[in-house]
Amino acid sequence: MADVGIGHYRISAMKQTLQAGLDRLGLALAPDRIDALCRFGAAVIEKNKVMNLTAITEPQAVAELHLLDSLTLCKVLDLSGKSLLDVGTGAGFPGVPLKIAVPSLELTLLDSLQKRMRWLQDEALPALGITAAVLAGRAEDYARPGEPGREGFDVVSSRAVARLNVLCELCLPFVRPGGCFLAMKGQDAAEELQQARRAIETLGGRWERTETFELGGQQHRVLVIRKVRQTPPQYPRAYAKIKQKPLFATEKSVLFT
Ligand code: SAM
Repeated sequence: MADVGIGHYRISAMKQTLQAGLDRLGLALAPDRIDALCRFGAAVIEKNKVMNLTAITEPQAVAELHLLDSLTLCKVLDLSGKSLLDVGTGAGFPGVPLKIAVPSLELTLLDSLQKRMRWLQDEALPALGITAAVLAGRAEDYARPGEPGREGFDVVSSRAVARLNVLCELCLPFVRPGGCFLAMKGQDAAEELQQARRAIETLGGRWERTETFELGGQQHRVLVIRKVRQTPPQYPRAYAKIKQKPLFATEKSVLFT
């Protein structure tokens, strides 16, 4: 990515915030990885001037709320050599920062917005020298029985896409039995988890643990949901059905821990 147009001073500010956050997280990255993360952050800010990618545009906020937030997943799970699908990746979060930090990660990005995926595939990823599979379409279509991605990934990640009871139906079918779904959530994670208990069980998952990270003065949580058996073939349903009739928690499953 040629020297991106957000200015040297602002890139330095992003880099300082990123480095301080990496120290807090206890993540050591080589200088060229840190530079690549900043180049990606700057490219998102620049492209956002002409394409709606993010509401976060200040370099320090991009470092904290996009780059570092994405990288928390490296603290949750050892991602080296794993296949990871990022569902509803948008401008590439958390998938792209993870691939920069862990080059051996086999990354697939999925989003229904064609424009964003074209920008990632044609501009952002080549400029960073990153190889990743890029899928433009709806998660529920790519996850159907018979599709190559179904139960095809060690790890599935997703941030800011849907409430957990809906999100599980979009994401768990992609996880291979034994693998993990990492759902990035905010303060309401515990409540969302209660409402999603039945969905998780029905789709072949089991909540394993929740990890908390403080970023930008807020609690960010990562729910680790293990795939313990195959997802029944009737899931995922069509999106209209999922939204109309999400797999809600029953009183019994709320009590189940
Ligand atoms: N994960 C990114 C982040 O945290 O910055 C983007 C979040 S953005 C708020 C939500 C994204 O999810 C949008 O880009 C949208 O197109 C995508 N999305 C929503 N439902 C989807 C589905 N069923 N299949 C694929 N992508 C979906």
